[in-house]
Amino acid sequence: MKNAVVTGGGSGIGLAVAQRLRADGMHVATIDIASSDDEFAHTADVTDRAAVEAAFAAIRSQLGPVTVLVNAAGQEKFKRFADLKFEDWQRIIDVNLNGVFHCIQTVLPDMVEAGWGRIVNISSSSTHSGQPFMSSYVAAKSAVNGLTKSLALEYGPSGITVNAVPPGFIDTPMLRKSEERGYLAVQQSIDSTPVRRIGRPEDIAAACAFLVSEEAGYITGQILGVNGGRNT
Ligand code: NAP
Repeated sequence: MKNAVVTGGGSGIGLAVAQRLRADGMHVATIDIASSDDEFAHTADVTDRAAVEAAFAAIRSQLGPVTVLVNAAGQEKFKRFADLKFEDWQRIIDVNLNGVFHCIQTVLPDMVEAGWGRIVNISSSSTHSGQPFMSSYVAAKSAVNGLTKSLALEYGPSGITVNAVPPGFIDTPMLRKSEERGYLAVQQSIDSTPVRRIGRPEDIAAACAFLVSEEAGYITGQILGVNGGRNT
């Protein structure tokens, strides 16, 4: 049995990934900024290194060493670039990029010790072509893709694969909030998506389940778009 941690596991894509990995037979703990009564749901802001380390320590004492990590915690920001305060920029880089740094660095010793590991970073299809009013988010997610490729090269010899999944439009609370605030026209997005539907969190979970599996051991440093054919 493998032990897995999914960040952002309290909602949307992270929740679906956690459920899918459990269904596939893994022990799964989650880390999310929102609290939960679930004994395997740990509360931490991924930007807070001490909180991340405490959450992983608690998970290790519950489950043992962790050899699978899916980084799905994320936060968007829609603002004209000229109106973006440096604090806004900093927070988005902090959550979407530095949070990934903290979680990977904290879990890596377990994977190196095991000589086996799987890391999947959820980036964004917006990194393919850019997105107006989302400069900080697209910058952070693009950096996550770069981090993914570099770590794949660095840790391949240790038996650890590192891949990214950039989702297209996925029906989650984050996407619906963007729609409510007038930043996204869902029907228009569906019309411009070749498979003509919105993505489901389970679509992303299926890709993650494959990438963390034993049989995906020869796949690393890849950016696997799950986007219905849009932004490929
Ligand atoms: P979601 O439903 O909002 O889930 C994200 C989860 O991450 C939430 O539970 C959120 O908590 C948590 N979170 C936010 N900031 C955090 C922090 N600092 N520390 C720990 N947890 C934090 O959004 P989602 O759509 O499932 O997004 C999952 C990932 O997919 C994100 O990285 C997102 O950028 C990416 N993505 C989504 C789409 C899409 O169309 N949905 C497209 C491309 C990429 P709160 O709700 O309390 O903030």
